[in-house]
Amino acid sequence: MNLEIGAQVNASWQDIVQRADFVGGRYVEDFERAWAAYCGRRHAVGVGNGTDALQLALQALGIGHGDEVIVPANTFVATAEAVVAAGAIPRFIDVDPETLVVSASLIEAAITARTAAVIVVHLYGQPPDMDAITHVAQRANLAVVEDAAQAHGATWRGRKAGTLADIGCFSFYPGKNLGAFGDAGAVVTDDSIIAERVRSLADHGRSARSKHIHDFVGVNSRLDALQAAVLSAKLAHLDAWNAARRRIAHSYRVGLAHAAVRPVKVAEEACSAFHLFVIRTSDRGGLRAALASRHIATGIHYPLPCHKQAGLRHFSNEPLPVAEQAAEEILSLPMFPHMTLEQVEAVCAAIMQADPGEII
Ligand SMILES: *Cc1c(COP(=O)(O)O)cnc(C)c1O
Repeated sequence: MNLEIGAQVNASWQDIVQRADFVGGRYVEDFERAWAAYCGRRHAVGVGNGTDALQLALQALGIGHGDEVIVPANTFVATAEAVVAAGAIPRFIDVDPETLVVSASLIEAAITARTAAVIVVHLYGQPPDMDAITHVAQRANLAVVEDAAQAHGATWRGRKAGTLADIGCFSFYPGKNLGAFGDAGAVVTDDSIIAERVRSLADHGRSARSKHIHDFVGVNSRLDALQAAVLSAKLAHLDAWNAARRRIAHSYRVGLAHAAVRPVKVAEEACSAFHLFVIRTSDRGGLRAALASRHIATGIHYPLPCHKQAGLRHFSNEPLPVAEQAAEEILSLPMFPHMTLEQVEAVCAAIMQADPGEII
């Protein structure tokens, strides 16, 4: 992959070093424009990472002290962390047993008088039913924030992840579908007031009118030019890389059709970005060991649901059985755009031979 973009990144980085224009500036503005256009939103604001994108999005929407924000238990811990960092209270909900992402009815059941927002996570690359979620949120007057950190280029009924609600948040951590050579993130929205507020909050609350006037107490979470140049170079390949991920996912499905493991379902209306290809198995330990013995590396995203994590469990008082059971059974198979079909077949063959327990 780095071969495809190496020459362009080298040229950009030399230019940036020569200009000594490292934070903000032309490369950041170019990427912000390109990312907004790719997503189909009016504004993209580059920030330091995906967690800050979520926190600043919540703050820009006016969500903070005393507000409850609904968050799925099955997500990376950063989703809930951002709520706490914004001064609000995460309220964990369970996920759909088939897709392992949230649903409108699960959100609706968790709404209280203090609920101000919901963060919808497009986990593994898959957006949930955003039409139904928007309907529920509008009725309850909730803001909807998308955590699209795993879903660059994914769609729901043809509309892009990150543009399906009020504000979309992305991480460009190196391992994501669009990844920088370090930490980076962005927020996208059509609302120019919200976009300006995120930009200001990410830059010490600085006023758009003057460098020395600070309208808010913000943070330092700016996108730097070196990362922006990498992201612009990679963006040209994102659709091709996502298409490759989808072909790999399809091959896994075909190859595992008669296996004793079950891929996590993707809804018909969703086009997943397949950040991860996740299966469920009743004997994860055994299957993982069998694959490891053939030098096939797997991951678990995530083995401990958020509402069980030490820093977050005091926000939760009820069991969330679907997320808890999934955490015991999920396994992420190798998934990267340059994976060959032979490699996919080898993983499938190893899984068939390992005979990992009962069909579940
Ligand atoms: C990666 C990720 C984040 C956090 O992004 P960072 O850039 O690492 O801060 C948030 N949510 C989800 C679902 C993620 O996968």
